[in-house]
Amino acid sequence: MMEFLCIDIMNSDRVDWQNAENPRDMLEDGKWLTELLEKWELEASSPIDTGSLKKLKALRKQMYAIVSQLSNGDALEINQLIEVNKILEDMSTHVRMDYKNNEFILGYSYIGQGWSLVIWHVAKSFADMLCNYGTTRIKICDNQNCGWAFYDQSKNKSRRWCDDKVCGNIMKVRRFRSRKKEKENE
Ligand SMILES: [Zn+2]
Repeated sequence: MMEFLCIDIMNSDRVDWQNAENPRDMLEDGKWLTELLEKWELEASSPIDTGSLKKLKALRKQMYAIVSQLSNGDALEINQLIEVNKILEDMSTHVRMDYKNNEFILGYSYIGQGWSLVIWHVAKSFADMLCNYGTTRIKICDNQNCGWAFYDQSKNKSRRWCDDKVCGNIMKVRRFRSRKKEKENE
């Protein structure tokens, strides 16, 4: 499965949609954040400071808005990228070449660290996804209660749900029920 750090962040306040009375924002859950950092091999202090949390939430909102529009087939305004670009431009990166075991490797080092670097990586993964992986595969789950962003890797780009087993099944059952109801009312 194709994974992007930015998608993990975008879906972080919709994790527990099946428990709708008890919505949770995972960005405020220290354990979830620690696991996220481990997964993406990033380092930052725990708990997250309030300034970084605010910045990360704002970035999440912007990214999600952009992806929703793309998913709907709506055109974007260039100024919607201002905030993401500001984060990208804030970080100085140095690139160098290495040579190990007969292979060349590009190595990156950054002037920032901690949460500002993590937030930069989130914005970078978003830029990378949109610039290098095509916008037609980036979608929002058809289950309105879910609303997860996902990357559609299917051959004909026909996937509609973030997860066929969860949302796909729920939607199929729901359609079946409404069709049954229609029949009963006939
Ligand atoms: Zn879903």
